Amino acid sequence: MKKMQQMYEGKAKKVYATDDPNLVIVDYKDDATAFNGEKKGTISGKGLINNRVTNHLMQMLETHGIPTHFVEELSERETLVKRVAIIPLEVIVRNTAAGSFSKRFGVEEGRKLSSPTLEFCLKDDALGDPMINDYHILALDIATREELDRISSYTFQINRVLTDYFKQRGIDLIDFKIEFGKTPDGTIVLADEISPDTCRFWDSTTHEKLDKDRFRRDLGGEQEAYQEILRRVIG
Ligand code: UDP
Repeated sequence: MKKMQQMYEGKAKKVYATDDPNLVIVDYKDDATAFNGEKKGTISGKGLINNRVTNHLMQMLETHGIPTHFVEELSERETLVKRVAIIPLEVIVRNTAAGSFSKRFGVEEGRKLSSPTLEFCLKDDALGDPMINDYHILALDIATREELDRISSYTFQINRVLTDYFKQRGIDLIDFKIEFGKTPDGTIVLADEISPDTCRFWDSTTHEKLDKDRFRRDLGGEQEAYQEILRRVIG
């Protein structure tokens, strides 16, 4: 597989074309951003960890019937994935109140929710990723009813699988954000990443934060926290 010209550079990853028009290479960076890019830094080793954690989880989810964009890990930081059109939605699941949910509803962080919640944000940095509902998504032709139903059912299934998986490794999955893409034949697949950048992970016994909140909130120890997640995921 030949790595060709860079197609895109995001906050945490670069994407390269390959000699196969249906495949691209993602290359994970150590750059970290928060608050819609206002806070910038680097977490040494993050690219490698997020690449390996994402790939491990995507392959595990595939065994549970979730289609993903994953094709092959190429190196410590690079992975071959299916080329998809990203559906511009951040799909967020919450099991426990934290972050913007706690702020918005005045609920203390750490309150276990009676049922998992699902929310969508429009992926648009210039607009600050505003929350968007099903009606808006349909009215703006961002997805069809069928696509939205499929995304929602995959998402709750992903939540069940990931929650169990992390529970067995001494981690509470507080919340997470995922993204979906559409292949040329219209198949919806899980895309982007699942990592400490995009999930809140709390140690089940100490409740220590093992995710990007260490960077967002200047708690320190972000390298060690990311390393710990890799260790528990890969075993
Ligand atoms: N999240 C993300 N990217 C975003 C916004 C949120 O990966 O642009 C993740 C975040 O890491 C957390 C979950 O989605 O696991 C819920 O985030 P929240 O809405 O509480 O926003 P935050 O407090 O991170 O601003």
